[in-house]
Amino acid sequence: MRVTRRKLITSASAGFAAAALSPRLAWATSEVSLGAMRITTLRDGSITQPADFMYDPMDQDALAQWLAVRGMARDAALNPDCNVTLLRHEGRTILFDAGSGSGFTATAGDLPDALAAAGVDPGEITHVVFTHGHADHLWGVLDDFEEPFFPNAEHLMGRTEFDFWYDPTTVDTISADRQGMAVGAKRRLDVMADRFTLFEDGEEILPGIAARATHGHTPGHMSFEVRDGGESVMVVGDAILNHHLSFDHPDWPLGADADRTMAAATRAALMDQLASDQMLMIGFHLPDGGLGRVERAGGAFRFVPA
Ligand SMILES: [Zn+2]
Repeated sequence: MRVTRRKLITSASAGFAAAALSPRLAWATSEVSLGAMRITTLRDGSITQPADFMYDPMDQDALAQWLAVRGMARDAALNPDCNVTLLRHEGRTILFDAGSGSGFTATAGDLPDALAAAGVDPGEITHVVFTHGHADHLWGVLDDFEEPFFPNAEHLMGRTEFDFWYDPTTVDTISADRQGMAVGAKRRLDVMADRFTLFEDGEEILPGIAARATHGHTPGHMSFEVRDGGESVMVVGDAILNHHLSFDHPDWPLGADADRTMAAATRAALMDQLASDQMLMIGFHLPDGGLGRVERAGGAFRFVPA
């Protein structure tokens, strides 16, 4: 297995692609080769998770102690990176999640630039595989003209997840602070529905890629075990949401999770397996490109970037 880390710095000399770039000109990327598979993480930007939104469900005394140890402020929002995974294998060019697009937040939606910097045209993408239907993962499927951004790609999502966001009643039943997510997902899935293929837990959705149910963050959140030969990496999406709280206290209820009890159980079990197997993983919101390993630390875990 070969792991490299590099920063792609674009410049005017990159020609046409550079002309359309945003002011954020650098993308931290990680690369790993598994057998014949080439995996690159691409930076879509970052998102803001308000402190109250994340922390309110927690035991506030325990939280205060943890924040003090970490040197973090209770009222400081979290601003995690967004890492889209690109997998090239046997003629297929596969993305895991589509990024935010331009309609979610000004700090994200850089995937088109990151793809250009990596030398990949959106028309070359053959498959887009979704961990879940949140804005920072799904909304990049459409361009600014409401057309498919990956015009030649088959789009794949777990059936439970797709059904949840496609259901017209979800916008009325979801909590008020998530209604915008539901409206945005439904609008995009309405445009894209005939391009979607749905799958179940445990299915090998593409050669060497198996779906693994990691529900809780959303009702049908999926991770993906990517394997070639004896080597593997788990694309975990938001099942492991951040590199501090999720590792130090995987059992704490996290405000960003839809079903906090289920998400905590999923997170703890997944981290236990990743630590036991010493399996490489990619987290969508983990730092430095998101590629790393889970190590045990005391009674909890630690993120070790690869
Ligand atoms: Zn996310």
